[in-house]
Amino acid sequence: MIGLSDDTETGICEKCIGNPDFAGWIAQNGRKGECDFDSAHGNSNSVVTVEEFTGRMKQLIAPKPKGEIDGTGNDARPHPR
Ligand SMILES: [Zn+2]
Repeated sequence: MIGLSDDTETGICEKCIGNPDFAGWIAQNGRKGECDFDSAHGNSNSVVTVEEFTGRMKQLIAPKPKGEIDGTGNDARPHPR
């Protein structure tokens, strides 16, 4: 059964990505599999799911709020001087 559902398990391979940074990330974090976007890409590339890829993109493009955890009272240690 093959259908165009909102299946997030669709595989996207490194060849689909023009950006070398993202392609490199797929090569490192993906697994050998078949590209679901372009059958011409074959099944010998590293593949990640679309969900994984979009999650990674959000991480990269998201503005970093701050370098600290927004916890309260995280400065428990006094600074003796
Ligand atoms: Zn591909």
